Amino acid sequence: MQLARILLATSLSLTPVVAVTVAQAPQANPDTTGLVLVEAESFAATGGWVVDQQFMDFMGSPYLLAHGLGIPVQDAHTDVAFAQPGRYRVWVRTRDWVAPWQAPGAPGRFELQLNGRTLKTTFGTEGADWHWQDGGVVDATASTKLTMHDLCGFEGRCDAILFSKDLSFQPPHGGGELAELRGKLLGWDREPKDGGSFDLVVVGGGIAGTTAAITAARLGCKVALIQDRPVLGGNGSSEVRVWPEGHTNHEPYPHIGDVVRELVRKKGKGDGNARNRQIYNDHRKLNLARKEPNLTLLLEHRANGSVHEQGHIRAVRAQHTRSGRRQLVRGRWFLDATGDGVIGALVGADFEMTQLGHMGVSNLWNVGEVEKNEYQLLCECEDDDPMSLNFVKSDTPAPFPRCPWAVDLSDKPFPGRKALKLGKRSMANLSQLGGWFWETGFDRHPITDLERMRDQNLRAMYGAWDALKNVDGQYPNQRLKWAAFIAGKRESRRLLGDVIVTGKDFHDLKPFDDAAFPCTWHIDLHFPKAQFQKGHEGDEFISDFTRGKGYNYKGPYWAPYRALYSRNIDNLFMAGRDISVTHEALGAVRVMQTCGMMGEIVGMAASLCKQHDCNPRAIYKEHLAELKRLMKRGAGQQKK
Ligand SMILES: Cc1cc2nc3c(=O)[nH]c(=O)nc-3n(C[C@H](O)[C@H](O)[C@H](O)COP(=O)(O)OP(=O)(O)OC[C@H]3O[C@@H](n4cnc5c(N)ncnc54)[C@H](O)[C@@H]3O)c2cc1C
Repeated sequence: MQLARILLATSLSLTPVVAVTVAQAPQANPDTTGLVLVEAESFAATGGWVVDQQFMDFMGSPYLLAHGLGIPVQDAHTDVAFAQPGRYRVWVRTRDWVAPWQAPGAPGRFELQLNGRTLKTTFGTEGADWHWQDGGVVDATASTKLTMHDLCGFEGRCDAILFSKDLSFQPPHGGGELAELRGKLLGWDREPKDGGSFDLVVVGGGIAGTTAAITAARLGCKVALIQDRPVLGGNGSSEVRVWPEGHTNHEPYPHIGDVVRELVRKKGKGDGNARNRQIYNDHRKLNLARKEPNLTLLLEHRANGSVHEQGHIRAVRAQHTRSGRRQLVRGRWFLDATGDGVIGALVGADFEMTQLGHMGVSNLWNVGEVEKNEYQLLCECEDDDPMSLNFVKSDTPAPFPRCPWAVDLSDKPFPGRKALKLGKRSMANLSQLGGWFWETGFDRHPITDLERMRDQNLRAMYGAWDALKNVDGQYPNQRLKWAAFIAGKRESRRLLGDVIVTGKDFHDLKPFDDAAFPCTWHIDLHFPKAQFQKGHEGDEFISDFTRGKGYNYKGPYWAPYRALYSRNIDNLFMAGRDISVTHEALGAVRVMQTCGMMGEIVGMAASLCKQHDCNPRAIYKEHLAELKRLMKRGAGQQKK
């Protein structure tokens, strides 16, 4: 097949953004067009602003977010080279992030400084949608220092800054036209560079992708692992802080789970959700992956394009989330471990997605004593004591502003709102704040509405803390300590394989001859909790879960290998929460250690694909006995 005949697909048909190389100051911008575009995420120093890549497939670019929990974050700055110094109109791409709720106050306000002079406009104050806000006319020097100055610490956001010599020029607000402009100004209309050729290309570095990549590499495959964050682990990383559950190492394949065990230690005292960052062991995962000589790790790369022909993938395009550099990563087999079925959607894999009444997203959070405020001021927004939920009494007041733009919980119930006294009782209530059940978006589109869902989680957190401190007068000396800005996702696309595992299969304990990974979690589905629904219909933020009769089964239940490869893309595997299951069955398979075991199976199957020069389906049809032999041995490092 001629490469020219192969389709280059991009996510949601919008071309993603590319920015100038990070940390090259002053930045070289070709302004022969009279336009100079600076991507915020490519600022040489991002200060306390964080790079948010979660929505780049449909908004065209990552952006910088001032995630300060109410304390303004440190300035971001960069130097920009102007080949034609002089007068320019400056535009800032931003939005008022609470405008979708018509909420007052514009908490995401920030300023822009040029060579130390603050522009008159305050940004982030208008518009529910991403758009260019006019910053007026400025004088740019050959090397101009740009500084982004956060005013509130409440989730201000900036995508890009554009300078136009033509003072009447109006940049396109979005869509194909903006993508085209970015392409022209930043050079990403050029071909991506060659990112190498691999046996297995794994996209998504959650637990499923990481175990798959390590397993396949150990079994002789040349593997690329593409992950859009700087750490591995997905929801189990320190960025999201969910503790991995599910049981591993069951008969008749007691070594399935050995790689999971290397990545995740056994649960101990103090382990759980939304705790201190160290317990999630990012380094342990990174070190294990880096130790594999056959494994190439592409961190901070988002896979957002593909080269594919009818039912077969040739390559994926990986874009660096700060510099925008793009490379084409070629492979024989691909694994979609993105959780969202991103690669499957790009290449036309069959999938299902529950539109209404699916599980929502959470942004876990916790609170702490005020002495640790200096960490926030340093914009690390982190904690350093081993038990983040330890309630330490402090004498220093920690005022928190009223948040009229947040979910108004002044006179509404929410978990953690009962106790009026400090001490043991309020400890129990503090642990009710920011847990897994602070969840939104049950009826929203899991992919295109994600930013709104994440933002509603943040509005609920700020509203609850405002109510506790400023209405109830509780916790005068405590502060918001940590909150995830990366949304913890549970459910979106489920890619369809030769078998679609159903809830009934679990109830009936339906046996499969290709039984491959043991499931031990009950059918755990989430929905809005009635007790907290009133007044928040459509924007519920507290969930309940299914339990009891009808949701239990006699585990471990061994689910089939055939749910781990696509039924219509011949070289595509799946592992993790985007495998071939129904909404109901997802409730059982989605816990992380189970997802990790799926990854082990895919790694083994990929090694057999290489050995036999065949596709995933042939492993079931022709080489199942060999897969089972590998499953008996496992891929752990321990000698057997
Ligand atoms: C709040 C919450 C509580 C939960 N509670 C538990 C619990 O207690 N125990 C438990 O075991 N499970 C729990 N779960 C479920 C569990 O976290 C998920 O089902 C599990 O993480 C799925 O693993 P995964 O590897 O498939 O996906 P993820 O963990 O979502 O990882 C996917 C990774 O791929 C990356 N990625 C996505 N798209 C791309 C792309 N295009 N290019 C590059 N990288 C990409 C993402 O950034 C992410 O890091 C919970 C989930 C949530 C949200």
